[in-house]
Amino acid sequence: MRRFAGDRLLVATHNSGKLEEIADLLSGHAIHIIGAADLGLHEPEETGADFIANARIKAHAASRATGLPALADDSGLEINALDGAPGVHTADWAETSSGRDFVLAMTRAYNALVDSGAAQPWIARFCCTFVLAWPDGHSETFEGHMNGRITWPMRGDKGHGYDPIFQPDGHGITFGQMSRPEKNRVSHRADAFRKLKAVFQHG
Ligand code: IMP
Repeated sequence: MRRFAGDRLLVATHNSGKLEEIADLLSGHAIHIIGAADLGLHEPEETGADFIANARIKAHAASRATGLPALADDSGLEINALDGAPGVHTADWAETSSGRDFVLAMTRAYNALVDSGAAQPWIARFCCTFVLAWPDGHSETFEGHMNGRITWPMRGDKGHGYDPIFQPDGHGITFGQMSRPEKNRVSHRADAFRKLKAVFQHG
């Protein structure tokens, strides 16, 4: 694995929450974090067939455009009985003409499962992929997962996205019922973060 040896890292996201999370992760390292929005970078179209492909598109585009090493992530929900859907379309399932509506997205997922006739438990997993790309075209990929099941009705008002219908394995509550620190200890993003950390360690 190639280690990160520079002192400036571009984080290819326009999401300030993600930027803060990554800055936190790297707070012990002398690395200056630069957000994509600070440089006025455009978000490339996410045309990949999976999370890795989309994270690569974002990381390489940002690195090429700036000459800096760039970190990008992509995440979403895969439901077994729906052949991995919504997958890379996780956010798209929430799109409406007036913005994103995740109650609608969760209802779509539930209706699709009922229509599929699949027996419960409805096995699913959240995925999070980080790609770190260098200007010479090299990249390193880190994947995190959290296995669980889709439950209905929605439970909990914490978290975001599909959290109220996802019950992680080993827990009797949904992500939507977990406190943020509790979710951050076990989530797919935490899993990917743990793996990503190694790239910034030296010696
Ligand atoms: P992206 O990685 O920002 O493209 O996010 C993809 C979509 O996946 C988000 O809009 C959320 O709907 C969903 N998602 C990713 N992580 C989580 C999570 O931890 N809880 C609930 N939904 C999530």
